[in-house]
Amino acid sequence: MATVLVSEFMDGSALAFLENRLSVDYAPNLFDDQQTLMQRISLVDALIVRNRTPVTRELLNHAGQLKVVGRLGVGLDNIDLEAAKQANIQVLPATGANAVAVAEYVMSALLHLRRPMTSGFQAMVGGDWPREQFIGGEISGKTLGLIGFGQIAQIVAKRAAAFGMRIAYFDPYVDESEHHAGATAVSSLDELLALADSVSIHVPLTEDTHRLMDSQRLALMKSGAILINTSRGGIVDEKALIHHIQTGHLGGAALDVFEHEPLDELKGARFDGIDQLILTPHIAGVTHESNRRVSQVTAENVLRALGYE
Ligand code: NAD
Repeated sequence: MATVLVSEFMDGSALAFLENRLSVDYAPNLFDDQQTLMQRISLVDALIVRNRTPVTRELLNHAGQLKVVGRLGVGLDNIDLEAAKQANIQVLPATGANAVAVAEYVMSALLHLRRPMTSGFQAMVGGDWPREQFIGGEISGKTLGLIGFGQIAQIVAKRAAAFGMRIAYFDPYVDESEHHAGATAVSSLDELLALADSVSIHVPLTEDTHRLMDSQRLALMKSGAILINTSRGGIVDEKALIHHIQTGHLGGAALDVFEHEPLDELKGARFDGIDQLILTPHIAGVTHESNRRVSQVTAENVLRALGYE
């Protein structure tokens, strides 16, 4: 019977589905223990990871009969794809299975940053009636700029359009002739940044996109614009972003992903005291529903790759 090692959390029903078919080594906290991972990977036919297990060339060198890496999600930047290819190991993301979760996060962040509903909470429970403090802005009629126009961005575009937003996107790899929910393609990132009232990032982390949003690019954003990053840390220069919010140039940001994850006290402290900032621990794509979908898709991908049907 084939064996699969699962090194990060997985939905219980998908896990049971796997356990009915093959032998499962479920070790959801193993992701940061490379030594043990190297020992255990030598014994298995499949590995299932989220984004916190570094699937390095060194780790893959310890794989004996490993045939497939199932990714509980879509970003593949924690996996050495070249090393996997050379070792003839398939890498299978759960494409699209968490896209709605990310899109709903983006809409929620957009609305909340424009209309911060919790800001007057303390005043309210203290018996105040701070109406001015609650006056926010509308997203209707404003322009949302999408960097990257793949699975997630296209779902965001549909939802934002339903809120009356104009949608523009920059993605040099997307065929513009396909009509995309009324979204307009622009020919450069700089052009997008100059026209968007809010910008949401939906590109993978690659050499090209590393620090794509550096200080110079942030400076090109409109005064009062907001930035939402659910893609990967490392794409946005965090220090520069803080600077642009503190100087009042940008109106705020929502960050779900960070250059160094998890944030420790030191790195967390740099965001302390900044208004108009939403920080979440890489959960934009994780809801109860998406966790079930992603886990089931990954289980099925892995079984198929191992020849089970
Ligand atoms: P996707 O592959 O469908 O879309 C990515 C798009 O980016 C593609 O259309 C591609 O052409 C475009 N692109 C690549 N390089 C570009 C560049 N330099 N400039 C402009 N466009 C570029 O991926 P997706 O499913 O939409 O996911 C996007 C990213 O979101 C993933 O790579 C992943 O890192 C991240 N993600 C995060 C979470 C989370 O929980 N925070 C969940 C899911 C995905």
